[in-house]
Amino acid sequence: MQPRPLISTQDIAARVPALGSEIATRLADGPLTAVGVLRGAFIFMADLVRAIPRDVRCDFLGVRSYGAATETSGVVQITSDLGLPISGQHVLLVEDIVDTGLTLRYLLDLLQAQGPASLHVCTLLNKPSRRRVEVPLHFVGFEIPDRFVVGYGLDAAQKYRNLPYVAVVDE
Ligand code: 5GP
Repeated sequence: MQPRPLISTQDIAARVPALGSEIATRLADGPLTAVGVLRGAFIFMADLVRAIPRDVRCDFLGVRSYGAATETSGVVQITSDLGLPISGQHVLLVEDIVDTGLTLRYLLDLLQAQGPASLHVCTLLNKPSRRRVEVPLHFVGFEIPDRFVVGYGLDAAQKYRNLPYVAVVDE
């Protein structure tokens, strides 16, 4: 079962710097911490922070969501917590993909409780057709149809994360 390309390396390489400039322009001045959600966002995070032309502290949250292999249950387990305090920071939460929105809702509540100066969300991919809870998405790389995608950090059973493009696997 070979993944079929959906978003090319070239399209990603063009979009990420545009997101970085938009973030630098729209976020208020002051200390900025990017929080990448592991594992799916690790490649996007690495490219995105290099495209934000201002000081950015980098931190990560390890997250596991229970449920069927390709669908979240909304029950989120934090497998690795933040290493830096985010109180008073402008926080940019960096996600790989927002599907039902349940994971993001949980993470936003978790981060908001720690007193950031502001909290924004940047996601590489958005699957709006499957949303179950409303979540704010301030910066979106690409909107995609309701397909299971892999590559550029995203996996299927830990496979395909290192593909340099986003692809669809037929389930
Ligand atoms: P949500 O809570 O929004 O339904 O799902 C968020 C998480 O589900 C993502 O961070 C990701 O881990 C996983 N997920 C949702 N859709 C996909 C997909 O198409 N491909 C992959 N690899 N993971 C997905």
